[in-house]
Amino acid sequence: MYNKITLLGNAQDAGRPQIGCTQKCCDDARKDFTLVRNPVSLGLHGDQFGIVEITRCISHQLGRVNNPKLSEIWLTHAHLGHIEGLGQLGKEALNSKNIKLRCSDSVVDYVMKHPIWKKLVIRNNITFDKYFSDEIIPIKVPHRAQDFDTHALLFRGQNNNILFLPDHDTWEETLESVGYDNPKDWFISLGASIVLLDGTFWNVDELKNRVQARVPHPSVSETIDLLGSRNEGDLRIIFIHLNHTNPLHYPDSEEYLKVENMGWEIGYEGMEFEL
Ligand SMILES: [Zn+2]
Ligand SMILES: [Zn+2]
Ligand SMILES: [Zn+2]
Repeated sequence: MYNKITLLGNAQDAGRPQIGCTQKCCDDARKDFTLVRNPVSLGLHGDQFGIVEITRCISHQLGRVNNPKLSEIWLTHAHLGHIEGLGQLGKEALNSKNIKLRCSDSVVDYVMKHPIWKKLVIRNNITFDKYFSDEIIPIKVPHRAQDFDTHALLFRGQNNNILFLPDHDTWEETLESVGYDNPKDWFISLGASIVLLDGTFWNVDELKNRVQARVPHPSVSETIDLLGSRNEGDLRIIFIHLNHTNPLHYPDSEEYLKVENMGWEIGYEGMEFEL
């Protein structure tokens, strides 16, 4: 049983600063280490300690919560930033024994196709386990499914149900796949009181050197337009998985204030949620 979740990273897969970025967003974070942000991950606290996503920053992320012994890992999907830390479980690092890896069948297949990760299974550093429990329910969402599928995770607790949805492609496709007309109705149908939501990009022309349409995510601007302002008693929606380019990394930005004034939140590392 888990009773608390800690946000261990609020950035997109590549973190902040992102390798190769020479813009202000990452130069700032190279000069001031307090601006460094880890790729998204959740710590699950209870009679055992689990995490969601295993990033290359796993050692620091565990350190933030007193370095607990890891018993299981849940994955939403297998894009690199979400699974890169698996290598840290091997012989060269932790050399773990049978940490449970809980992911979808297509992610199991994907992990087993890669020699480095396959070795972790052969050496019993990790053992696959079923991809649902009484308190954690995966919900399939459309997100670039060439190699594997992607899920959101719903955590059911005594005090809160928390939905974790770090990556999806478009609201149109996601809402169609779950059968709702707008995000809030879907969240309410799940009984969610807190949603940790894909906030990768602020708007649709944020990437200057790449074609942003090839890395689809609903922008925060679009999402808050769909949501409108928060009413009293509404659920909490907290944006996470922020790309290095996202102005929401700056609490004094116009964009940050806009989200805040509408009543929604931006996730920060170390943020805790009672389950
Ligand atoms: Zn991601
Ligand atoms: Zn940058
Ligand atoms: Zn992804």
